[in-house]
Amino acid sequence: MYDFAYHKPTSIADAVKLLQADPEAKPIAGGHTLIPALKHRLNRPSALVDLSGIAELKGIRREGDTIVIGAMTRHVEVATNPEVAAAIPALSRMAGSIGDTQVRNRGTMGGSLANNDPAADYPAAVLALGGTLVTNARQIAADDFFQGMFTTALEPAELLVAIRLPVPLKCGYAKMKNPASRYSMAGVFVAKGPAGVRVAVNGAGPGVFRVAAMEQALAANWSPDAVAGISIPADGLNSDIHASAEYRAHLVTVMAKRAVADAG
Ligand SMILES: Cc1cc2nc3c(=O)[nH]c(=O)nc-3n(C[C@H](O)[C@H](O)[C@H](O)COP(=O)(O)OP(=O)(O)OC[C@H]3O[C@@H](n4cnc5c(N)ncnc54)[C@H](O)[C@@H]3O)c2cc1C
Repeated sequence: MYDFAYHKPTSIADAVKLLQADPEAKPIAGGHTLIPALKHRLNRPSALVDLSGIAELKGIRREGDTIVIGAMTRHVEVATNPEVAAAIPALSRMAGSIGDTQVRNRGTMGGSLANNDPAADYPAAVLALGGTLVTNARQIAADDFFQGMFTTALEPAELLVAIRLPVPLKCGYAKMKNPASRYSMAGVFVAKGPAGVRVAVNGAGPGVFRVAAMEQALAANWSPDAVAGISIPADGLNSDIHASAEYRAHLVTVMAKRAVADAG
């Protein structure tokens, strides 16, 4: 580690001011990704703007047919919140499957989405549910927010404030976990909701992506059998010590079947 300034603002406006004043400053949420990055000197911000003192960024509420989750809401809160369990049960189960107890007690939904790790769970849920990412400056549709490996539509000094998720009629999630970290080697979130049927995949590629062929098949026939014969090409998928691209392509079909079964 090395020296850096530390700020703990109590409002979104003050946090944004601090970030705008210093282009080398970075926001910190749960720190589960950022602190290891600092330790490995992969990232050397001049200042950390700690978001944990900002009450406006926390909490979960239902507004009509939408679940609104503050960016600083921790995984454990998403996993145990009764409104989420009733409205988007697969999201509760997903949050409960992230990492281990320590990770779920510190990591935040906003930190995970802003980081956009290809193997992270939430991007698939937010994309499949047709969610909206609310920042201090604008609202960004999930289809426009995720822009590839560790890349999002967020501008420098722009803060993710909340995530708005339309309540689906049905939703399900299945992932093949990396046995050490519990990150997804391939995971599929399926949802049938106001935006139609949407299928989003994490872990398999360099970023979260939708599978149009599976969406069309499920729109015609919502059953695991509808996706059983649909395979995605291995070209461009991740290949590493954990799994080859071909195996990940195979997993996408298997996880899609399980996700539809999970949705019921
Ligand atoms: C051992 C281990 C296992 C894990 N397993 C899983 C897993 O199974 N599934 C999974 O999905 N994740 C997993 N994670 C990741 C973890 O769940 C966190 O979600 C992730 O580390 C990022 O969230 P954070 O709150 O810790 O963010 P931080 O580390 O604090 O921040 C991450 C990045 O986002 C930026 N940022 C944070 N909040 C905001 C905001 N509101 N607006 C703009 N930018 C922001 C920061 O500047 C930083 O660049 C694991 C992590 C560890 C250490």
